Amino acid sequence: MGLDICGRNPVSPVGVHFRTTNSRWGALVRYLFTIAPKIASTCVYWYTSDGDGLNYAAAVRLAGRLEVEIDSGRAAEYQKEHPHWPCSECNGGTRNDVASCENCRGRGNVPNHFEIHDAQDFLKFLKVCGGFSVS
Ligand SMILES: [Zn+2]
Repeated sequence: MGLDICGRNPVSPVGVHFRTTNSRWGALVRYLFTIAPKIASTCVYWYTSDGDGLNYAAAVRLAGRLEVEIDSGRAAEYQKEHPHWPCSECNGGTRNDVASCENCRGRGNVPNHFEIHDAQDFLKFLKVCGGFSVS
């Protein structure tokens, strides 16, 4: 299962669709919020098929930001430095009943599915999608 990220006004076939799994999309979106919180906040529903997304100008700005992070090597460093992510169910293991948390099996964290090639593929999409909607 995955969400369809659809280009609103694609200028090349690469900008028509971006597809990934829900867990990898979640990891990519979390990363986008760390590198470009203001731009990323212009979309509210990143994880549901409500048709929310980024307009053309925001997509272009996000592409610029993401390209700098990839080209500088910082995106690859982020992947290495964040192999796990705090568990959302038990609030990173701070809940009293963390041992019974089924989401992380008591570890307090879950694998971070951020992958540099997803960021690179999303950058290619962002540059030519003309804005996008999550559906
Ligand atoms: Zn947990």
